Amino acid sequence: MRCLRAAGLSRRSAADLGPRLEALVASAPPVRLAFDPVELPRLYGDPRDAEVTGLLSALLAYGRADLFKPKLRALLGAMGPSPAAFVTRLDAIGAARLLRGFVYRFNVGADLAVLLLGMGWALREKGSLEALFEAQLRGHGSIKGALGAFTRSIRCSASVGPVRRALGRERGLDHLLPLALGDGPAKRLNLFLRWMVRGPDEVDLGLWRSVTPAQLVVPLDTHLARVSRRLGLTRRKDLSWKTAEEVTTSLRLIDPGDPVRFDFALCHLGMSGACPPRPSIGRCSACPLLGSCRVGPTAVARAVARELPDPLVH
Ligand code: SF4
Repeated sequence: MRCLRAAGLSRRSAADLGPRLEALVASAPPVRLAFDPVELPRLYGDPRDAEVTGLLSALLAYGRADLFKPKLRALLGAMGPSPAAFVTRLDAIGAARLLRGFVYRFNVGADLAVLLLGMGWALREKGSLEALFEAQLRGHGSIKGALGAFTRSIRCSASVGPVRRALGRERGLDHLLPLALGDGPAKRLNLFLRWMVRGPDEVDLGLWRSVTPAQLVVPLDTHLARVSRRLGLTRRKDLSWKTAEEVTTSLRLIDPGDPVRFDFALCHLGMSGACPPRPSIGRCSACPLLGSCRVGPTAVARAVARELPDPLVH
């Protein structure tokens, strides 16, 4: 009978990897927060302000942080001390005042206006973004289903007619606020959930109590996917929801109650260049994950072999 190998981590490999991941988390420098959009919602003490800032920041967090973070800072500065109060009172005319001329890669002012007006609707009608998400989770029963319904209800609550008259047509609304989640990993939405649900700790805010950390799915991007494959958390090569689930299932063997806890350190290991696309002896020999890595030891051994004197030469 053919033996079916598990696609993710085995229990034995998880037992080996667990302490190494703990060492990585312990060694992740706090300065990495400056390169991460979570720095922005962390500026607000009021949970409603933090969740509005969090969703806006997470959805615009694509491309380079040094490009999107200044855009976000400028927007938040213009929204005043309480982004939640700002969106609750917002109308299309106010959105046009804030967003006329706004462009960041795929997105223009009209896209962001729909998002901000939709968040204003959620706060007025439900009291919080958490209450809206909680209702969707109860109705759909899965994080993916709830996220799709959450973005759809925010998007569909805004009247696009006045937005278009004030700011022109939307351009990248499907990218910013999809009507339905496809096969992709929904990285930015899972990142937003991680911020809201995990913690509080040095990274995540831990504001929402209606979802447990155990329910979360990793915010999979190219950096996390590369490191995850190297550690055997997945053998899948695509950036998909299935791969994100598989990585999460592997991490659950290490921390069943909070598998996504390792995401920040793993993602920044790739993003910072500490785990580069081509493994190098310098990086790998200093990496706390070396003993669990599928490629690092080979890179180190090859480099060491190159340095040894040739035994045939006397
Ligand atoms: S050992 Fe090297 S390749 Fe493996 S995770 Fe660490 S830095 Fe990346």
